Amino acid sequence: MLAIQFARTGGPEVLEAVQVEVPSPAAGQILIRHQAVGLNYIDTYHRSGLYPLKLPSGIGLEAAGVVEAIGDGVTRFQVGDRVAYNGTMGAYAEAAVVPAERTVRVPDGVSLETAAAVLLKGMTAEFLVRRCFHVKPGDLVLVHAAAGGVGQILVQWCKALGATVIATAGGEAKLALARSLGADHVIDYGQEDVVARVGEITGGKGVAVVYDGVGKDTWDASFKSLAKRGVLVTFGNASGPVPPFAPLELSAKSAFVTRPRLFDYIATTEELDESAEALFGVLASGAVKIDIGQTFPLAEARAAHEALEGRKTTGATLLIP
Ligand code: NDP
Repeated sequence: MLAIQFARTGGPEVLEAVQVEVPSPAAGQILIRHQAVGLNYIDTYHRSGLYPLKLPSGIGLEAAGVVEAIGDGVTRFQVGDRVAYNGTMGAYAEAAVVPAERTVRVPDGVSLETAAAVLLKGMTAEFLVRRCFHVKPGDLVLVHAAAGGVGQILVQWCKALGATVIATAGGEAKLALARSLGADHVIDYGQEDVVARVGEITGGKGVAVVYDGVGKDTWDASFKSLAKRGVLVTFGNASGPVPPFAPLELSAKSAFVTRPRLFDYIATTEELDESAEALFGVLASGAVKIDIGQTFPLAEARAAHEALEGRKTTGATLLIP
């Protein structure tokens, strides 16, 4: 089968399409024939070496497909079930073996393409708005990179929870997209002064929470946009990692900073299932819609990485085996 691997860290050019044997499921595992593979920004951190892996390595954490074989002791699924997963390395492949306990069933009415587009990004939005910080009606929320994969879901979910959403993105087309998803205010962070605009919009009060997946470039504006006792959720590094800072700086407004990882919020199978239930619930209610902005053939993973890092994508990106 076709799989994407890399033997050294670097730019998108280190990704290689190779032929490998279809793996067999060991005890507790299932073999999933992929219908769609989700592209995530974390894949670029693995490829670049920001998040180190033992090399050579497969790449990709998220895919959806059909169970083709089951290992000993698996009772959670049967051959033929429609499933998806979001935390097992090697998803950029035509098939993969995954622990059954880390896989969820895809409900009827949700396509496998949507499942692959949403499972990692949507569970991220789920824990960010419901558990990491609990968004409540009337909260003022700032969402960066709002036209992106996680960003689009965050905007819609925060609106569904009754928040007032201020969204940032790069360029008019992305701002229009954020507005169409329900953002109350939009800011082009490449052109405008984010802190000044947030100040105007909030009457100088600042926001209760900032969801910041951009990292280095937005850190300063995120902190300055917080209300007193506000929460800065720094959950990604699209522009590079946030440099070190002194805790004393937080005392300027008694701020809270957290640097969460999805995998610590879906650490148990119970948490995984609860997160999936909440996510598929907001999809079923129509509160959150998934935008598959672009697809690439699996063999063209390199071009997909170039587009993602080049800020040329909107919404979710799929690789199609
Ligand atoms: P996106 O689709 O959001 O792509 C990243 C976006 O970031 C770009 O489209 C771009 O939007 C913006 N951006 C701003 N500055 C840069 C830059 N210098 N280079 C590239 N992009 C930039 O990706 P994802 O939805 O996959 O992920 C969003 C963030 O969430 C990532 O940081 C990711 O690591 C993080 N994440 C964290 C998780 C966790 O558990 N902590 C789990 C899942 C995702 P624009 O053009 O509008 O600026």
